[in-house]
Amino acid sequence: MSSKTRKLSIVGARGVGKSTLVVQYVDNYFVESYYPTIQNQFTKFVKFRNNTYEVEILDTAGQDEFTIVQSGPIVHGYILVFSLNSRSSFDLMPIIRDKILDSTGKDDIPMVLVGNKLDLERKVSKEEGLALAKEFGNIPYVEVSAKLSGNTGEENTDINKIFLKLLEQIEGEKFDAQKEGC
Ligand code: GDP
Repeated sequence: MSSKTRKLSIVGARGVGKSTLVVQYVDNYFVESYYPTIQNQFTKFVKFRNNTYEVEILDTAGQDEFTIVQSGPIVHGYILVFSLNSRSSFDLMPIIRDKILDSTGKDDIPMVLVGNKLDLERKVSKEEGLALAKEFGNIPYVEVSAKLSGNTGEENTDINKIFLKLLEQIEGEKFDAQKEGC
């Protein structure tokens, strides 16, 4: 299969649901595990704009949030996750974003802001999430529940949307007119 590889990293405080989201997305297709207690890598083949992309997702499970961004493989885009149920996980987002920008030396890198645990009591409003995404350079903002999304036996559109929006940024907007699902 000819494919393009895109590496994504999912970051955020411990317990916000990063691993749950990734596992939902890759449909339990666990491919590889290395540095067992530090990082897991998942792979999914995704059809996007008439190409097949090999999407590799680095899950930073178990890592201290301040060492999340390490000099590692080149990462094309980041998923910034907080829990809608946790104000402290939301407050961490700008700090993590700064770390990413500092470590890459860029002032603009593809990112999506995700508020997870939509099924629990809200501690962060949708307006606050949208405002932060705007502050981050108008990046996409998606609210999901990785829990409610599970076990439906269907492709999860909300979770797919996170990855689709990130791929759109990585690949640029030039073919926006022919947007398609993945
Ligand atoms: P991580 O440390 O960010 O990778 O977080 P995990 O994926 O390990 O999830 C932490 C806990 O939150 C687990 O018990 C999950 O089952 C739970 N969890 C994840 N997503 C959701 C969600 O959307 N809603 C609820 N209620 N629980 C969730």
